Amino acid sequence: MAAMIERPCPVCDGRETRPHWRKGDVTLVQCRACGMVFANPVPAALASGEHYEGLAAGLYLTADKLAADYAPVRFERELKLFRQFCPQGKVLDVGCSTGGFLFQLEARWPGDYERLGTDVVGPALDYATSRGVTVLHEGFLEHDFGGGQFDALTMWAVAEHLIDPSKFLAKAAVMLRPGGHCFVLVPNLKSLAMRLLGSRYRYVMVEHVNYFSAATLRRLVARVPDLEIVALRSTHFNPVVLWQDWRGQGRRVSDAERVALLKRTTSWKQRGGPLRWGYRAVETALGAVGLADNLVAVMEKK
Ligand SMILES: [Zn+2]
Repeated sequence: MAAMIERPCPVCDGRETRPHWRKGDVTLVQCRACGMVFANPVPAALASGEHYEGLAAGLYLTADKLAADYAPVRFERELKLFRQFCPQGKVLDVGCSTGGFLFQLEARWPGDYERLGTDVVGPALDYATSRGVTVLHEGFLEHDFGGGQFDALTMWAVAEHLIDPSKFLAKAAVMLRPGGHCFVLVPNLKSLAMRLLGSRYRYVMVEHVNYFSAATLRRLVARVPDLEIVALRSTHFNPVVLWQDWRGQGRRVSDAERVALLKRTTSWKQRGGPLRWGYRAVETALGAVGLADNLVAVMEKK
């Protein structure tokens, strides 16, 4: 039996919870005080990052996953939003993995940004380095970056993995210059997919320990007095995942299957034509009513 860690609510530190969902090894509870849904207890190997090293070869570094992560459409939405708030400057991508976001930042706007990535997964960082992305192989909380240095910090699909996300935001606030921005993207607990599928959804998985709604994400940010939310949106929609998980009835989806699907949807998004426009229209409509797959918050340092 793997070692497990008990933790309080990651949003309000509350200890009173009610059961939410169970799925295999995943036990989700809901905080009675603030409504946050989170995994508790969680495997100790997730907290240490050890778990992710083991995933590298099977998932992050397969040719298909790398091709998808480096496809120009992969970070299209994130880049557009990022550029609106940060037209130039010094950027740190926290949990940068194989470096796709920072790579695209330079490819789209050469010379506008000074880029640094950090992560705990060594093999993924080696790949990022091979693509010209400067990286630091150290935990974000452990490294001393100095204060007031950065124009922007990004956490794309990172906060759902963190045992204590408020510590990350507090540190981000210290590292940003006044007027700098922090970008956080997480899966949306109130998405159409989550509402329809519940625990059958493939993203209810052992690696995801926090399940934010717009309300609980706001509460989390409110714990950091120096950060203020200046934009909060719901974004991305993958109808194929919804359809497959509906039919799959909650069976485990292998890494190979995830990657194969990623490759297919990436090629559809790149293809253009009426299918793409229809897909975009649905995504926009879902985003407008807060039902898209992810939430993205932009915070400004006061
Ligand atoms: Zn709470």
